[in-house]
This record gives sequence, structure tokens and C-alpha cells, in this order.
Amino acid sequence: MEYCVECLEDSEFKPVEIKKVFNIRGEHIEIMVTRFQCSCCGELVPDPHLEEQYFAKAYSEYRQRKGLLQPDEMISIREMYGLSQRQLAKLFGWGHATVSRYESGALQSPSHNAEFILMKNPENMKRLLESNAKGLSGKEFSTLDNRIASLLGSKEEKVYRLLEDLFGDAPGITNGFVVFNLDKVVQTVKNFASKDNRLLKVKLMKYLWYIDFVHFKRFNISINGIKYAALPLGPVPDKYDFLMGLIENESEQILKKYEDIGLENPAELYRAIGEPDLCLFTKEEIETLDYVYESFKNDTSSSIAAKSHLEKAWIETAIGQIISYEYAHELSIG
Ligand SMILES: [Zn+2]
Repeated sequence: MEYCVECLEDSEFKPVEIKKVFNIRGEHIEIMVTRFQCSCCGELVPDPHLEEQYFAKAYSEYRQRKGLLQPDEMISIREMYGLSQRQLAKLFGWGHATVSRYESGALQSPSHNAEFILMKNPENMKRLLESNAKGLSGKEFSTLDNRIASLLGSKEEKVYRLLEDLFGDAPGITNGFVVFNLDKVVQTVKNFASKDNRLLKVKLMKYLWYIDFVHFKRFNISINGIKYAALPLGPVPDKYDFLMGLIENESEQILKKYEDIGLENPAELYRAIGEPDLCLFTKEEIETLDYVYESFKNDTSSSIAAKSHLEKAWIETAIGQIISYEYAHELSIG
């Protein structure tokens, strides 16, 4: 029992659900709010925080409907980087109270929301920090920089994990009984790029296939341990996009260039920076590299692709499947 200001006496108050309708940025939002009502006169108990509650609920519903972050999600993104509200606002280039207002329930703009979502990825935070560190002190900068580095893990660890996941198969007939070694692949590419002054990506992929298969034909072992898939354009390294990405990542050794050839996509070319390091290769492997280069140096991308289309290895492997190194013994060259 509580005192009712209308009845002027103690009365029973019961919870009732009240529907409220809002129009938020043109969106029709209905919410239900629990209030207490005198069972005698119907008077509702006054609540000083009512308006706040209504808006908090309506905004929450609106955010959910529009895929916007809720305040607690924005807080957790900020805390992930150990930043204060003011520091984050500075990085974003927003007014100093903006982050604080959002975290306490103000409705964020779609563009501010998008910036927050981007910052969930430490790679993006790193870019933001590099392009807009003004406003942060030297100490704040280095604290954040370290935080990002630990969230990202070191570059070497990441590359290593990626390699393990994608290419780290045990030796077998699909990789020519050699464990993939990125350093060696990079030097192989560099070797071809230093000899061929216009090494196109398509041709490079064929060179790689031929050197591994020729070497297997000769010695029952591949050079680079690459798995190759049969694609319509011929044999190519399995997951070649990732492999090429890893090779291009070695930007101090190999330079990727684009050349406009009047088609929709420009030609992709590889150039060596400096001389290849051939210490990683045996004498026999170097002979295979030279042999394959000499065999195809006068070919264009399409003529080498056409030759690969005549190989039993490609003909007998279903599109998308890995080509067995057993076919090396039936290769047209070597
Ligand atoms: Zn009453």
C-alpha cells in the first residue's frame, strides 16, 4: 500500500504496461513501459526519469532495427584500445563530448556509427592513428600504438599462421613431397622476374607449375612444395590469390606493376628488386629453373597457357581439383 495523491489515502498500486509511440528519424517506433497505477482512481505514479527511460528504450529499439551499435558496444570498442572518451573523440576528429554523449544514450549519426564499426578492426585503428595522431600526446600515441600491436600480433606471426593454414600440408603427392617454403618461392619468382623483363602474372604461374613438375619428373621431388589446381586457364598454384598476396608482400624483393593494355583489367607484372638469392637452391634445382626458363622464354602468356592445356596433368584433372604430381612423369618437357 502506498499513499495516493488523488485519493488522499493509502491505496493499492498495480503495474500496468503502457504503450508509447515515437517517430525517430522518420521511423515509427512503439515501446512498452511499465508504470504503477492506483487501483482505486487510476492515477499513475509520477516518475521523474520517465522521459529518459522512454527515449532510452525507443533509441535502443531504433538502433537494433537499423543495425547501429548500442551504447555498451561503443564502450567496449573504446575500452578495447584503453582510450578515454576524450582521446577517442580526438582521434575521430569529433567534438570532445560526442563520445560521452553516445555512451550515455544519445543517438549516433549513421556516419559516426560507421566510423565506430571500422574501429573494431585494429588494422583500421592503426591506419587512423597513423593518419591522425594530432591531439594525442607522445605518450598517448605510443600507448595506443603498443595496444594495437598486441591486438594485431606481430606481422611475422600472422604470416606464419596464414602459411600454416593455407599451405602447411605434410609432404605428399599433392605437394611433390616437399613442405612449402615461402622464402624459396619468393626467390624463385625473383629469379624469373630478373631474367624476364616483362614477367606477367599468368606466365609466372605457368613457370611455377612447370619448374615443380619438371623437377619432380627428374628427381621425384618438387622444388617449392606448391600444390597446383586445374583451372580453366591451366594449372595454377592452389589458392593463388593468397600466394600472390604473400609474394607481393615481400615488397623489398619483388615489385608488382600494372600496365594498361587497353582491356578492362590492366596487365599485372612482376619485377625483381636486386638479384635473387640462389643459396636456397641445390645445383640440380638451379638447372631446372634455367631449363624451364629457356623452354618458355619466347612464349607469351597465352602460348604457354596453350601448351599447359595439352599436358595430360591438366586434361585428366577435373576443374578445381588438385593435380597429382604423378602426372609429372608424362610431362611434355623435362
Ligand atoms: Zn488513487
